[in-house]
Amino acid sequence: MGPRRFLKLLVAVWLALAVSPATAQNAEVGARVAVCVAPARAGEGAREMLALHPRYDCATRQQRFGAGDFFVLAPRLPQGAGTEPRRLRSASLWQRRSTLTILYADGATVSRVRDDRAAARSLQLGAMFEDPIPVRGVPALAALWKVEGATNIRGIVADPRVATPEQAVRSNLLLGTLYAAFGGLSLALVVYNLSLFVVLRHRFQLAYCAMLVAMAGYAASSSGAVTWWIDIANTDRIRLNYLLLATTGILAVAFARWFFEPRVFRGATGRVAVAVCALLGTAGIAFALLAPWQARLLDALYGGSFLVLMAFTAAVMWRAWRLRSNHLWIFTLAWAAPIAFAAVRVASVFGFVQLSFLLDNSTLASMTVEALMSAIAISYRIRLLMHERDAAMAGEAAARALADTDPLTGLLNRRAFLREAIGGRERRRLVLADIDHFKRINDTLGHDRGDEVLRRFARALRAAAPAPALVARIGGEEFAILAPDDDHAMAQEVLDAVRATRMPYDLTVTASLGSEAAVVASESDWARLYRRADQALLEAKQAGRDRVRWATPALAA
Ligand code: GH3
Ligand code: MG
Ligand code: MG
Repeated sequence: MGPRRFLKLLVAVWLALAVSPATAQNAEVGARVAVCVAPARAGEGAREMLALHPRYDCATRQQRFGAGDFFVLAPRLPQGAGTEPRRLRSASLWQRRSTLTILYADGATVSRVRDDRAAARSLQLGAMFEDPIPVRGVPALAALWKVEGATNIRGIVADPRVATPEQAVRSNLLLGTLYAAFGGLSLALVVYNLSLFVVLRHRFQLAYCAMLVAMAGYAASSSGAVTWWIDIANTDRIRLNYLLLATTGILAVAFARWFFEPRVFRGATGRVAVAVCALLGTAGIAFALLAPWQARLLDALYGGSFLVLMAFTAAVMWRAWRLRSNHLWIFTLAWAAPIAFAAVRVASVFGFVQLSFLLDNSTLASMTVEALMSAIAISYRIRLLMHERDAAMAGEAAARALADTDPLTGLLNRRAFLREAIGGRERRRLVLADIDHFKRINDTLGHDRGDEVLRRFARALRAAAPAPALVARIGGEEFAILAPDDDHAMAQEVLDAVRATRMPYDLTVTASLGSEAAVVASESDWARLYRRADQALLEAKQAGRDRVRWATPALAA
């Protein structure tokens, strides 16, 4: 699969995934209820504030009121409240304590006080506060929250709704599956990347795993799921959100730092990366330690640090493009969704966009996209490595072949021949061939033409020798053939082939051959076989050349 087809596949997966989370339902279930806000004054009780007091402001955005204590009144509750099971749901916010009072049609009121810990225990998935409206057989008319110690960064009572128990359960189930899918995916990716790290040793894989863990932690804490497992105060959970998201941001920078080629982060970019991480860390820790003191300011600082991260990300991508990074396209494809959603989130912190539930959970959806993209990206990387390995292996084989061959004739050289020849239990036949009066050929025609004769001669030997035989040039004009079986006639066949070969410049070239067979299990076997074949060759020379001599049978020892 080429990069082009791979890119198409990625885009297809991307689209499929990007569209599906958008259709998922969210935690904002039930009927919206309108609320009015009044800053609480000393001595004011719920009783008097349950009426739509002229001090109530029903138009101004809650954030405008700043931090403090407030009464928030829902003057009209939808039908069914008080007579059928209903739950009051609103998004979790930072507060010290809240007292909820429900006013019924018969004039009775029911109140409950909730501190920080109780707030956490009331959390539903999607970080929703939830309170049942007690069924008294009489319609519930109004709901009044007295919220104390609100930082009011995102509101006082955020988007309150009245939902049926079925709606609430359904919301939990839907989000439960979403978070479970994300959790499972994160776990699988961590295992997958860690095991791949053992093989590939890419440092970005470690950063990636750490980032996934931080992000899964953030998902557990920001969704409120963590309060289902451990008993913590809601504000501590919010502190944890800040810390974990900052950690995720820092690890994302670390990931990019090691994902791209070193040149991308060289020099000032590397120093800015460290500064961005320091800023994220400082902002996260500052909020976690100091809130609710200067919570709004610290939150803005925190949002600002992510704004800086966004700008830095854009700068890094620009730089990677300028430096022709090979990894930019895959980085862009994998991270486009998370970066886009993160940008919208940052914008929401500064009030440019209203933070909706969907946006709140977009991190999850887009990270799911990112995670899958990264898995594909990593497999693509493995593919590249595989190609590299194949090329390296082919290169090594070629280099080895080169080192084993005689450059003039293409036959095995002496070293390779010996390596291949020695070993084995079966009887084999060695034929040594030496060109007759080769010195004369050289002297009369010149060395270059002599070389040409050597090449032709080598080709003739290779053609005449049986296919599995080793054929080598073991000296200047001396050749060896080692056949796997003891074929007595082979030497004669080779000689005939040499005689039949047309030599260049119409030369008549003859050769003398010596032949012997033996088992060549060791070096000494070889030395003995060679000596006897060479002796036979010498006898062929002495008998007038252009002939074969077989070694005389060895006397039985
Ligand atoms: P004999 O019949 O007794 O084998 O005689 P000869 O001339 O073939 O034997 P000798 O060993 O005296 O000479 C071998 C010659 O082969 C000497 C050398 O110059 C030549 N020779 C060795 N290697 C090469 C080579 O790579 N290219 C060429 N052109 N000549 C070579
Ligand atoms: Mg010779
Ligand atoms: Mg010779």
